[in-house]
Amino acid sequence: MAENLRAPKGTFDLLPPQGDVFLRVRELMGQYAQRAGYGYIETPTFEDTSLFVRGVGESTDVVAKEMYSFTSKGDDQLTLRPEGTASVMRAILEHGLHKGALPVKLWYSGSFYRYERPQAGRYRHFSQVGAEAVGSDDPTLDAELIITAMDIFSSLGLQRVSLLLNSLGDHTDRPAYRDALVAFLDTLDLDEATRERVKLNPLRVLDDKRADVKEQLVNAPVMADFLSEANQEHYDTVRSLLRTAGVEWIESPHLVRGLDYYTRTAFEFVHDGLGSQSAVGGGGRYDGLASSIGGPDIAAVGWALGVDRTILAMQAEGLLKESASSVDVFAVPIGAECAAVAFDLVTQLRRAGVSADLAVDGRGLKGAMKAADRSGATLALVIGERDLADGSVQLKTMETGEQVSVPLAQVVSDVINTLKLSKDGRNQQ
Ligand code: AMP
Repeated sequence: MAENLRAPKGTFDLLPPQGDVFLRVRELMGQYAQRAGYGYIETPTFEDTSLFVRGVGESTDVVAKEMYSFTSKGDDQLTLRPEGTASVMRAILEHGLHKGALPVKLWYSGSFYRYERPQAGRYRHFSQVGAEAVGSDDPTLDAELIITAMDIFSSLGLQRVSLLLNSLGDHTDRPAYRDALVAFLDTLDLDEATRERVKLNPLRVLDDKRADVKEQLVNAPVMADFLSEANQEHYDTVRSLLRTAGVEWIESPHLVRGLDYYTRTAFEFVHDGLGSQSAVGGGGRYDGLASSIGGPDIAAVGWALGVDRTILAMQAEGLLKESASSVDVFAVPIGAECAAVAFDLVTQLRRAGVSADLAVDGRGLKGAMKAADRSGATLALVIGERDLADGSVQLKTMETGEQVSVPLAQVVSDVINTLKLSKDGRNQQ
């Protein structure tokens, strides 16, 4: 197939019914954030490149290798956003939200772009829902976000999501840990690129997925042994709140996050059915971000959930039913004269809040009934010339084949009542 008829490498189209599943999952994530008091924010899909360079960190893979950066016609250096947090913080600082009531609690949803090596669950264009609580270092917010995310996963029916938890300390205690870690890493047998990484950001070496490196890291010093009293207390409070909420976690002393700005609580949500790309979400505290992009010191915590991978996790747990996107009512006009009446009835139904569709292209009865079947509708409105002459149409219950004649003027109310009865019936079963 011609190149221009194929989606670019690492991207994919979402078609119904998967597209409808995607929308539902994304909406549910947002609903849970809203329920916890987070307001919706939408920022541009591109920003000044320098925002990400400073906010995400030059030594990260995201900035060093994965950004879609370009020069605009006006010579601006821009980048398609690889993540959401830096943009949210930029917007907060730009509009002075941090000078108002704190914490500022915001959630977002949208597309993100990273030039990664595509594989199952790793794309160049992907979708995240994120939530950020900015302007407070209260551990309640760390716990609130973690609990909300775990509740989102369980409300989707997912049972195999684990929470990995760690504390990364901050500028008060991390330097001592960093020194101890570097001293340890210097004794290991590492390749040149990894040695470079030890110099730039030793914590991220802990994140190395290669077996021979992992093996050598087993006895690496852990941040937990270096936490200051205040950071230990913060971490203890987060864990105690999680315990009260019935949220379990796996203590993960080697968990670091891919982005540079994280401090104290760090967490990841992983699913065991996804192979190597197992993270369905992650986040943590990033008290250092605001100042690194030129703002004042502002404490903050947040997460981003991967919508695409959450859906893959649902698939792995057999939670995606193969159902077509469906409407409640499907109208089947038999003959050209009936088409306009069918169209009018469908319009009336839609305006009354009923999902309705109709056969088009002047299809015969057989083809039109097939379309009604495919539509997944509970009811079909069969509109034939003879019935119309009497001022009525046939209302057919698809499951039983039962059919009653209904006067035109009563179609909308009868449809609503019948749908209500069939829904009540289903609920009682
Ligand atoms: P991060 O911003 O890297 O912490 O990512 C947060 C979540 O977004 C991850 O846990 C994934 O679920 C998802 N994600 C990140 N990168 C990708 C990608 N390239 N393709 C699909 N999902 C991704």
